[in-house]
Amino acid sequence: MNKSQPLVSAEGVGKSFGSIRAVQRISFEVLPQQIFSLLGPNGAGKSTLVRMLIGMLPPDEGTFVWRNSSGATVPLDRAKIGYLPEDRGLYKDQPVAATLEYFAGLRGLNRTESKRVSQLWIERLGLTQYAKSKLETLSKGNQQKVQIASAVLHRPALLVLDEPFSGLDPINQELMVNLIREIRAEGTTVLLSAHQLNLIERLADHVMIIAKGQKVLSGTVEEICHGEHGGKTLRVEFEQPIAANLLTEIQAHGDVRGLLLEQPNLIAMQFGPNQKQLEWLNKLQQWGAIRTFQSSSTSLHEIYLRVANDGLPQKEPSDV
Ligand code: ATP
Repeated sequence: MNKSQPLVSAEGVGKSFGSIRAVQRISFEVLPQQIFSLLGPNGAGKSTLVRMLIGMLPPDEGTFVWRNSSGATVPLDRAKIGYLPEDRGLYKDQPVAATLEYFAGLRGLNRTESKRVSQLWIERLGLTQYAKSKLETLSKGNQQKVQIASAVLHRPALLVLDEPFSGLDPINQELMVNLIREIRAEGTTVLLSAHQLNLIERLADHVMIIAKGQKVLSGTVEEICHGEHGGKTLRVEFEQPIAANLLTEIQAHGDVRGLLLEQPNLIAMQFGPNQKQLEWLNKLQQWGAIRTFQSSSTSLHEIYLRVANDGLPQKEPSDV
């Protein structure tokens, strides 16, 4: 596998539905064996982008360029893609093993091979006792595992997962994180769209945030959190709930670029990499007694809330 050449590049792709510009001239590259995460609020255009990428929807403009393992451009080969859509389409009244064998057959595996890989995945995912059970009798987490298996059992070059963590409890979310890592280690590139930023922060090699159909931020988690949109977050906990107009006062000041009321008495203020925080502590003491304060690197979650809410980042306020 030629790891320096992208598996797929999007070049200025766009799509409108009537007057809705769902995706606006977005370009990006997915490298082989990367875990590439697509983030964005509801309606940002993620599913539209994914559906264009895998050839389910033609773009109005722009192209996708696919490359094989030697780096040569090739046409899109849907047999090399595994797709877990957001609205899962499995037959819930069918047994687990039969479902997986059916999907293996659809992916071009013969009967013997279909049985073999289905059995393998059932064991791997700890579902042996449910092999003959109807899908609808399984817990949501176990159904999700079967759904992932149905998308990956033919060992695709690219696995596309739309909301793989939705509806899973924290234990099953961890299992899913590990499973995605294992699938990548076996040579599959993973493109996933999800809203669980704490998991994405640990899992993704590359993150692209889109909002209102436009690319807002793109890079590794490290690049995003320590680049120009990252910085420090100062959490200040007051003895009492804060005064109603404190947030407006802070915002009016102009040098705090993100502000969240995390508890009635706890605020989180985001600062740019070179901005000073300590003088703010002095100012805030005038508003009430401070119980605790803590400064930490701004998280992906906090950056996301700021840029995905507002659309494209505005010019940063000048340093103080
Ligand atoms: P979510 O996180 O809620 O799944 P998303 O980021 O995947 O959202 P899309 O489903 O791609 O967003 O939708 C982007 C925009 O395009 C939305 O305004 C949506 O209403 C619109 N849209 C998507 N598909 C169609 C369609 N088939 N016909 C008309 N409008 C559509």
